[in-house]
Amino acid sequence: MKAPTTATRYDTRLADLEAWMNAFGQPAYRARQLHEGLYTQRRPLEDLTNIPKALREQIAEALPLALTVDTMQTADDAMTAKWLWRASDGAQIETVLMRYTARATVCVSSQAGCAMGCTFCATGQAGFERHLSAAEIVEQVLRAQHASPQRVSNVVFMGMGEPLANPDAVLEACTRLHDDVGLSARHLTVSTVGVVPGIERLTEFELPVTLAVSLHAPDDALREELVPLNRRYPLSAVLDAARAYAERKGRRVSFEYACISGVNDLPHQADALAGKLTGFRGGAHVNLIPLNDTAGYPGHPSESDRIAAFADRLRAAGIEATVRRNRGTTIDAACGQLRSRNP
Ligand code: SAH
Ligand code: SF4
Repeated sequence: MKAPTTATRYDTRLADLEAWMNAFGQPAYRARQLHEGLYTQRRPLEDLTNIPKALREQIAEALPLALTVDTMQTADDAMTAKWLWRASDGAQIETVLMRYTARATVCVSSQAGCAMGCTFCATGQAGFERHLSAAEIVEQVLRAQHASPQRVSNVVFMGMGEPLANPDAVLEACTRLHDDVGLSARHLTVSTVGVVPGIERLTEFELPVTLAVSLHAPDDALREELVPLNRRYPLSAVLDAARAYAERKGRRVSFEYACISGVNDLPHQADALAGKLTGFRGGAHVNLIPLNDTAGYPGHPSESDRIAAFADRLRAAGIEATVRRNRGTTIDAACGQLRSRNP
């Protein structure tokens, strides 16, 4: 058996845990117990009382957690929680837990910071620090689960970072969340600003995860102002890649649209958007999100009646549209508000 080489607790798949137990002189069933406890049952190591305490302590030391809590804040009657974590190299990342009556969603970061520079996004305004590893992504989900009475059923890659700029770690994390933690592939949502090669790679990926594409504008001129990456991958290329994804996976693609008053919420823009979202297998679904205020962008959220009218126009053109309710605005945990950096 190969010597254990993994570094942190959630770097470990079953074979790694078997190697560790072997190194500790323990029988293989201990590895299965540990794997079941950490991943299938999603419990913290300290709670796995079917494993002797001395061995748990040995494991805790050999396989430390990757993230320590800097701060944890709650909002919405404790139904929303945000963690600011620090990794061993000092990188800071954020995770948001959204609890509902019977289940919960975790919004994970895929990078510390983001290099894409979308003008209205706090993470983009702060710049890029580094990619996260698959273990750091899986750990965000499990640590949030430890704090949630509801079972985490959904994971969205909508925290800090552009997941498809870090596809190796993100796809590995999806595989592990599916295989080891038991989440269904369609309840894993990868949100991208439109990294076309990344969408193509996701199309080849074995799991039919949900693809969400952040559009925010119905034409290239406006989209370039909001999303600098549009100069590299224009709308038509992004939409073609998304159509191919829907076709291959047989899964409906969703589109995120942050509504900015007077900028992208006009009636003719709704019509133009509907005109672009044709030819999607399963139809296209647009999520309208009122812009969240950030320090570095002067725009304001659209008034709710404007958003409702925009949604109605999309629906009249046969495009499904929902208006997303904001969670966690008071603790800067809402879409696009995550922006931690090293002091
Ligand atoms: N980088 C990926 C995923 C992280 S951002 C992406 O851009 O899709 C998650 C979502 O939050 C994206 O749809 C993004 O456009 C949106 N967002 C960013 N800043 C926002 C803001 N200030 N208000 C509302 N939504 C915002
Ligand atoms: Fe990065 Fe997404 Fe923010 Fe754009 S919106 S800067 S891609 S995190």
